Amino acid sequence: MEQQDTRIKIAVQKSGRLTEHSIELLVRCGLSYSKGRDQLICYGENMPVDILLVRDDDIPSLVQENTCDLGIVGINIIEECWLSFKDQGESTLFSQVTPLDYGHCRLSFAVPDEVTYTGPQSLEGMRIATTYPRIVSSYLEAQGINGTIVKFSGAVEIAPSLGKADLICDLVSSGETLRAHNLYEAETILESSAALIRTPIEATSQKAEWIQRLLQRIQGVLQVKESKYIMLHAPKSALEEIRALLPGSEAPTIIPLEGCDDKVAVHAVCKENVFWETLEELKEAGASSMLVIPVEKMLA
Ligand code: ATP
Ligand code: ZN
Repeated sequence: MEQQDTRIKIAVQKSGRLTEHSIELLVRCGLSYSKGRDQLICYGENMPVDILLVRDDDIPSLVQENTCDLGIVGINIIEECWLSFKDQGESTLFSQVTPLDYGHCRLSFAVPDEVTYTGPQSLEGMRIATTYPRIVSSYLEAQGINGTIVKFSGAVEIAPSLGKADLICDLVSSGETLRAHNLYEAETILESSAALIRTPIEATSQKAEWIQRLLQRIQGVLQVKESKYIMLHAPKSALEEIRALLPGSEAPTIIPLEGCDDKVAVHAVCKENVFWETLEELKEAGASSMLVIPVEKMLA
């Protein structure tokens, strides 16, 4: 039991759109694991961190009640849960919500092709099928619109053709599912991505240290994806201009070039992607011998 309490538990979707990316994120933080026989827990082998594989809808509660220290789930689910907790008078859900760079989608109203949507007023008196009843009703309320919410637990897009609703409010990424059901996206009410959540209950000091370490590594992984290491030669006279062109870089390293008095080598970490256009602008400013290298790990 003592042993158990010192291990960090992270709730991750068992099988779905967020599973692969979430596990990959933890692996990039250095975690190696073995899967339990029941396939419900991945035991960390080199860190005191275990992954609990559960349905995404269960993740906010597991983290809120401190069964898990951390969790990864869509902002759409967090928002729906937050509204439900608020209804129950609960005010602190999580101590931290950090958006991640995958699982992007939007919660949108979608209406049958033959219906014209001219704005929220088109929702007046309509029956709206959704799996996000609280987000949708709070939107309708804010707009002063009366509509009827028809709660679905999945396959919302078939509701209009079944005659169960006039329109739907559902998650969209490419829009293909909507098109296949003769619906079009009319209005977005929430932009979503995966997010990391942390329990509001304070961790024991042993755990807190590893949680902090893991959070720092996750930040590092997120930063690294966009970051590039850039090396170039610059005429001393154009140094200021060239420095200003380097995207998202802190103080670069300036190195003298052997046998070349009017040029220096500039090395910098750019925390934003370096595009061809940037390199072209740098070249125009006088830079030469440019090299852009991906960054593998980063710790501030
Ligand atoms: P579970 O069995 O865990 O309940 P689910 O069917 O509810 O799974 P998925 O369809 O795997 O969930 O989606 C998980 C999350 O992925 C969503 O809550 C959302 O945040 C994100 N997502 C990204 N793009 C889409 C999309 N096009 N449709 C639905 N969800 C998306
Ligand atoms: Zn779900």
